[in-house]
Amino acid sequence: MTDTTGTPLIELEKISRRFEHRGQELAVLRDLNFRIFAGDQVAIMGPSGAGKSTLLQLLGTLDAPTDGTMRFDGEDIFARSSSGLARFRNDQVGFVFQFHHLLPEFTALENVMMPGLIGRMRKSVAEERAMELLEKVGLKERVHHQPGELSGGEQQRVAIARALFKKPRLLLADEPTGNLDLKTGAGIHAVLRELNQSTGVTVVVVTHDPNLAETMPIRVLVDQGQLIPQIPGDARLEGRLPEELLHREPRDPRQMAVAAEEA
Ligand code: ADP
Ligand code: MG
Repeated sequence: MTDTTGTPLIELEKISRRFEHRGQELAVLRDLNFRIFAGDQVAIMGPSGAGKSTLLQLLGTLDAPTDGTMRFDGEDIFARSSSGLARFRNDQVGFVFQFHHLLPEFTALENVMMPGLIGRMRKSVAEERAMELLEKVGLKERVHHQPGELSGGEQQRVAIARALFKKPRLLLADEPTGNLDLKTGAGIHAVLRELNQSTGVTVVVVTHDPNLAETMPIRVLVDQGQLIPQIPGDARLEGRLPEELLHREPRDPRQMAVAAEEA
């Protein structure tokens, strides 16, 4: 169980992100208030174009909000200089995307311990760590395979191991199962949950698949620029949302998926 009494790992306060598009203003996220605690497993759901990726980019400071404050461990993170933000991302955040971006001519092991990641670490130590991570994601027998010799699900597991190489506190995954069938995708979600349990890394995963979202204990829906909790009375949003939203019965995610397809 996550401790929700202390300082949140991440706190969004009135976060908005607007884009200028052909002279028109597009308010993608509006006044979001949300807290994520260390050790949480969060699924961000919502139809295509809802703003899920935009939200994840903000959480990883790859993009900055137009308004509002984001605190990481109590620190106003966007008050940092760009080099300070780069250091933050490098030290604290691991990213996994829909496309794994593995280097095709490198083995799984080499992809996890890329030169840019190992820095001044001794090679033997880096290799030990990479092996340990590959074992954790279930690829002990595949460490010397190249990406082309691995299945889609296995490739994504390598990408997850790589994202964790620097022991980030936050792992952000943007539709990591977007190219996978449901069963393989469920395996990826299981790996994310196991890593959360064994390493304590806070996991935030975007998915538009309600069946996969259901495997995560905390679920929020991005809907018309707002965050709607899918668990009534969730302490992460308590006192921070209009009452009617906080206590609104969560919609059945399966119906949401149908509505999104019909829209
Ligand atoms: P999702 O990940 O939920 O599918 P996104 O966060 O990628 O949605 O995008 C949400 C909306 O924001 C979309 O309408 C998209 O066109 C718009 N958007 C995203 N990035 C930009 C940008 N850099 N400039 C203009 N509009 C953008
Ligand atoms: Mg997206």
